[in-house]
Amino acid sequence: MKTHTRVLVIGGGVVGCSVLYHLTKLGWSDVTLIERSDLTSGSTWHAAGGFHTLNGDTNMAALQGYTIRLYKELEAITGMSCGLHHVGGITLADTQERFDMLKAERAKHRYMGLDTAILSPDEVAKMTDGLVNTSGIIGALYDPLDGHLDPSGTTHAYARAARMGGAEIILHNRVLSTTQRADGGWDVMTEQGMIVAEHLVNAAGLWAREVGAMAGVYLPLLPMAHQYLVTDDIPEIMDILKSGREFPHVMDPGGESYLRQEGRGLCIGFYEKPCEPWSVDGTPWTFGHELLNEQFDKIEGSVNFAYRRFPVLERSGVKRVIHGPFTFAPDGNPLIGPVPGLRNYWSACAVMAGFSQGGGMGLSLAQWMIHGEVERDPRGFDVARFGNWTTPGYTVPKVIENYQTRFSVAYPNEEKPAARPFRTTAMYDVFLGMRAVWGQQYGLEVVNYHALPGEPLYETPTFKRSNAWEATRAEVLAVRNGVGINEVQNFGKYRVTGPGARAWLDRIMAGLIPRPGRLSLTPMLADSGRIIGDFTVSCLSETEFQLTASYGAQGWHSRWFDSHLEDGVRVENISDTRTGFQIAGPKARELLARVTRSDVSNAAFGFMDVRHMTVGMANCIVQRVSYTADLGYEIYCDAVSQRHLWQVLWDAGQDLGLRPFGMRAMMSLRLDKFFGSWGREFSPDYMPGETGLDRFIRWNKPSDWIGKAAAMKEKAEGPKRRLCAFVVDALDADVVAWEPIWIGGDVVGFCTSGGFSHYTGKSVAMGFVPTGQVAEGLAVDIEILGEKRPARLVTEPLFDADGARMRG
Ligand SMILES: Cc1cc2nc3c(=O)[nH]c(=O)nc-3n(C[C@H](O)[C@H](O)[C@H](O)COP(=O)(O)OP(=O)(O)OC[C@H]3O[C@@H](n4cnc5c(N)ncnc54)[C@H](O)[C@@H]3O)c2cc1C
Repeated sequence: MKTHTRVLVIGGGVVGCSVLYHLTKLGWSDVTLIERSDLTSGSTWHAAGGFHTLNGDTNMAALQGYTIRLYKELEAITGMSCGLHHVGGITLADTQERFDMLKAERAKHRYMGLDTAILSPDEVAKMTDGLVNTSGIIGALYDPLDGHLDPSGTTHAYARAARMGGAEIILHNRVLSTTQRADGGWDVMTEQGMIVAEHLVNAAGLWAREVGAMAGVYLPLLPMAHQYLVTDDIPEIMDILKSGREFPHVMDPGGESYLRQEGRGLCIGFYEKPCEPWSVDGTPWTFGHELLNEQFDKIEGSVNFAYRRFPVLERSGVKRVIHGPFTFAPDGNPLIGPVPGLRNYWSACAVMAGFSQGGGMGLSLAQWMIHGEVERDPRGFDVARFGNWTTPGYTVPKVIENYQTRFSVAYPNEEKPAARPFRTTAMYDVFLGMRAVWGQQYGLEVVNYHALPGEPLYETPTFKRSNAWEATRAEVLAVRNGVGINEVQNFGKYRVTGPGARAWLDRIMAGLIPRPGRLSLTPMLADSGRIIGDFTVSCLSETEFQLTASYGAQGWHSRWFDSHLEDGVRVENISDTRTGFQIAGPKARELLARVTRSDVSNAAFGFMDVRHMTVGMANCIVQRVSYTADLGYEIYCDAVSQRHLWQVLWDAGQDLGLRPFGMRAMMSLRLDKFFGSWGREFSPDYMPGETGLDRFIRWNKPSDWIGKAAAMKEKAEGPKRRLCAFVVDALDADVVAWEPIWIGGDVVGFCTSGGFSHYTGKSVAMGFVPTGQVAEGLAVDIEILGEKRPARLVTEPLFDADGARMRG
């Protein structure tokens, strides 16, 4: 065995082999894969081999499309067969909500170039030769790309393609330990001896937790036991085969099942509610090419349902039962990318649908390792989306919930209940007493809204306007007409200190780094110029700065800061230790003046100023800025002073009509001014010039900053598309995200977010259209739940267009 390699991939399942192939495809040939047994010896060998593009995350869906298209390329390169059957797939909708979801997915596919179609029940019956009982079916989504393959053949094809690119694969050699070297590489002890690797990839599938633990990391994933049945030959299927056709895949989410042809019969698998995790405390090293015992009782209900939907099954004998484990992350998406806190250690784990996702995940990881970034926004599958607050105690209930709801309708306003409440602030009980309805961000409970008296303490999941409507409206009006208060806990916060702090920030951020006492807004760019953060920077002194950004992006941002640290600068993540409130609305200044002896007049404390102040008895940092687009202040204190700060503000605000508001109101308020939001308008999928964030770039900084060359290039060439705002003639549903924007019969763009502006009574959307089309009043249609709604491009904010209120 060789003693040194540039990359060592641990695990020869479909994912490890895909990573290995993509590394060679992108130009790294000194790459090695070590497998403890034979290839496919984890979950891979007993997979049903189905593949599909449907995924609520558009980047995941696009990467699933990439994976499926790759198989023909693999066959061509290697001359091996992947056993491909591109039979197409039909996802049934038996409720209006499910049909709404499918229509929304279809709409997204229009600009993603995925050629899906909505089917009527009659069309379903015809395409399935009457084998689907369509009673109760409202419609369906058809995807011609769906199909199935041979899991083992495909994995070996990846392996051969990788070998052809120079990779080495070593079988029957278990990795025993991994130790970080001082030079950032890894000493890897295997059964066949030591190998030094510059980079380590954990693609150990069922054993990813154990392999992670060798490096001291906890990867939040859990194997679940999954079962599918293969029938004897079925005459009706044999007739279809005789006519030279194949039976399509049929997903019946209402029955928690997926059905496909297998040989001359069918195979059907279930995501049953009485599901079971497998080997919760660790996967035994002795587990190999074996199946779990059949467990018919847990799928009995699902099977009976399937007999009604697919009556032919009841007449067919069961030839084989496959019951095996495979791994899931708490939200069901893969865990890919650089593991925070370690150098040159990469995760390629929790890929729950290896044959839909394995190619795209291999490509993305190889891009990340070789180019330093991924061509698509990776946040949906980035391992850093789970922070170090994630524990097995959290992962187990979350994975079970995800498995049970895998086929449930996914609503845009849905808040899943498992493992909650977990992380709360000192305000939790106070807001609970004020009828808070909670959401969750990065594990933290965050108020969505406060239910009105008589309303349930629960927001009904829906694609349309929810029961939070009146409460949200009341909170919005309280802010616009008086003063509102909410927590700033759910901002990611960083303290940057040291003699090198300013110079470092100037390099990391594209925008202005303010002078003492001032704030600035700035994008943070990757080398490619794409947006990886939108920050508020506060200069507290020449050697102390506070950064605020999205709470959910902490893992991502901290990892970026860590990997770009320099001597003379210290960055601390203080997201959970520095907390406080924002107050906003025309009476916000009056409220602040009542609780501090500092001068908060506009002359002494202007827009975008920051000051140390005593508020009540607490030492606070107060920033004059508000995402509500109103006169507002963010008041930061340490976590143990938060209840005191609340009491002081609450008592002083009573006769001003002070009212707490939540995230639903915040997102409505920001729409009045067309403020973009992280993860919606601003993400690594976009460039600064496209989004308008280029106005915050300080082009003429004396020293270079990350992303400068690419941003300058975009500036010189001009962006091809631009983020715009629209007022939509909506009915009972507003834009959420990804809805196509039509001009005439053409899809010209897509929405990034939207909602209802309660203050102005208008439905608002934000989205991209080609630069050449941007003009005040441009008439477009936006497709909401399958229906084109007229919309008009607006350039002037709906509230405080001249900024007088915000700055005054
Ligand atoms: C019943 C069933 C049906 C399924 N159906 C489908 C389907 O239809 N479509 C689909 O896309 N997916 C399906 N899946 C899921 C699919 O099997 C997985 O997504 C996929 O196999 C994950 O591959 P992997 O490479 O990540 O992990 P694994 O296949 O578990 O591979 C990990 C490899 O790492 C090796 N390894 C671990 N530790 C070490 C070590 N210390 N040293 C060296 N080697 C090590 C193991 O031996 C193993 O070969 C199904 C799964 C099951 C159980």
